[in-house]
Amino acid sequence: MTNHKTVTREMFDDVMVPNYAPGKIIPVRGEGSKLWDQDGNEFIDFAGGIAVNVLGHAHPALVDALKNQGEKLWHLSNVLANEPAIRLAQRLTDLTFAEKVFYANSGAEANEAALKLARRYAWEKFPAEKNNGIEKNEIIAFNNSFHGRTLFTVSVGGQAKYREGFEPVPGGISHVDFNDLDALAAKISDKTCAVIMEPIEGEGGIIPATQAFIEGVRALCDKHNALLIFDEVQTGVGRTGALYAYMNYGVTPDILTTAKALGGGFPIGAMLTTTEIAKSLVIGTHGSTYGGNPLACAVSEAVINIIANPEVLNGVKEKNKLFVDGLNTINEKYQIFDEVRSAGLLIGAALNEKWQGKAKDFLNAAQLEQVMVLVAGPSVVRFTPSLVIDNEEIKEGLARFERAVAKVVS
Ligand SMILES: *Cc1c(COP(=O)(O)O)cnc(C)c1O
Repeated sequence: MTNHKTVTREMFDDVMVPNYAPGKIIPVRGEGSKLWDQDGNEFIDFAGGIAVNVLGHAHPALVDALKNQGEKLWHLSNVLANEPAIRLAQRLTDLTFAEKVFYANSGAEANEAALKLARRYAWEKFPAEKNNGIEKNEIIAFNNSFHGRTLFTVSVGGQAKYREGFEPVPGGISHVDFNDLDALAAKISDKTCAVIMEPIEGEGGIIPATQAFIEGVRALCDKHNALLIFDEVQTGVGRTGALYAYMNYGVTPDILTTAKALGGGFPIGAMLTTTEIAKSLVIGTHGSTYGGNPLACAVSEAVINIIANPEVLNGVKEKNKLFVDGLNTINEKYQIFDEVRSAGLLIGAALNEKWQGKAKDFLNAAQLEQVMVLVAGPSVVRFTPSLVIDNEEIKEGLARFERAVAKVVS
C-alpha cells in the first residue's frame, strides 16, 4: 500500500505543547475494538480512549445519531433549550437516583459544577448564623484520587504532583487516606460542606472502596450535613457492570458526576443531583456555552439506550471473567503481578515488587505487539476496553499482550 503521509508523528513534537507523550503510531481508523494506523497495521484496543469508547469505534448506532443530528442542528447555547438535551436528561433521571441534570463538556467541568454546587448549597442552607457561627465550606477528598485538571479539581484531587508549580490553589480543601474511615471521622466536622470520592479510584490504580468504607462515608456525611459527591467519570455508564458503580454498593450519593463513557467518544459531561440540592444553582449562578450541546446529547442518548440493558451489563461481567482469568494465566507463567483488581471492564493488573515503576514498559511492549493498553500510575497496567468487545478479540488481544510480557521479562 502506498501512503503519502502528509502528517507524521514527528510533527506532533514540533507543533504541540509538550504535556503529552503519545505513542509512536498515528491511528487513522477504528471499527469496534480494532484500530488501524497510517501504514494499515491493525491493533486491538484494550484502552478504549481511557474508558471512553464504551461501544468501541464507529458503532453504527452512534454514527447514525451523529449524522442525523448533524444534519438538523448543531448548537444553540443555553439561551434556548434543545430536544436531545431534554430527552437525555429524562433518561438519566429515570435510570438513577437523580432528579436534575447539569451538562458540561468533560469530567473536570462536571466536577467543578459539583464542587461549586456543594459550596453554594451549604452557603445558602447552613449560613454561619444557622451553623453555630461556623462557615461551612470545607471539602474533603482522598489521597491518590483524581478529579480532573482544572485548578479547582487538581486542588481537590489527591495527587500533589498535579498542583506543583500552579499554586496558589483554592483553599478549604483537605485530604485523607482512601478506605480509612477513622481518618475521615477525625477530619470531618460541621465545617465540611462535601466529601468527594471515586467509588473505585481509577487513575490512582483501580482501588475499589470497601463496602464498609463507602457506607461509613455516607453515614459521616449525614451526621455532619455534608453532601456526598461520587465522581463516576471513570466508573460510570456500564463500566463496572452496573449503569453506575454506586448501584453495586447500594449507597446513594447526593451528587454524581459522569463524563468519559457518557458520550462514547463525543465530549460530554454531566452532574446529576436531587431537586432539593439543585435549587441552589439558581439562574445566573453557573453555566457553560457548550453544555447540553445537541450533537453531544444526541450521541449520548444513543450510548445510554444501548448500555442501559441487562444483556449489555451482564456481558460486562462475563467479559470481566475472560480478562481476569486470562491475566491470571499469564501471571502464572511470568510472575509479574501481585494481583489483578477489577470491577467489570475496569481492570488493573498491579505489578509485583520486582516490576515496580515499570508499567509503561509493558504498555510500550504491548503497542509493538499491536495491542493498546493503559497504565494507572507507574506500577499498574490498566485495561478499559469497549463494553461490547468480542470475546475473540479479548482472547487475541491477551495473546498479543502475553507476547509483550514475554519480551519485557526476557
Ligand atoms: C478522567 C477523570 C476525570 C477528568 O475527566 P476529563 O474529561 O479529563 O476532564 C475526573 N474524574 C475521574 C474519576 C476521571 O477518571
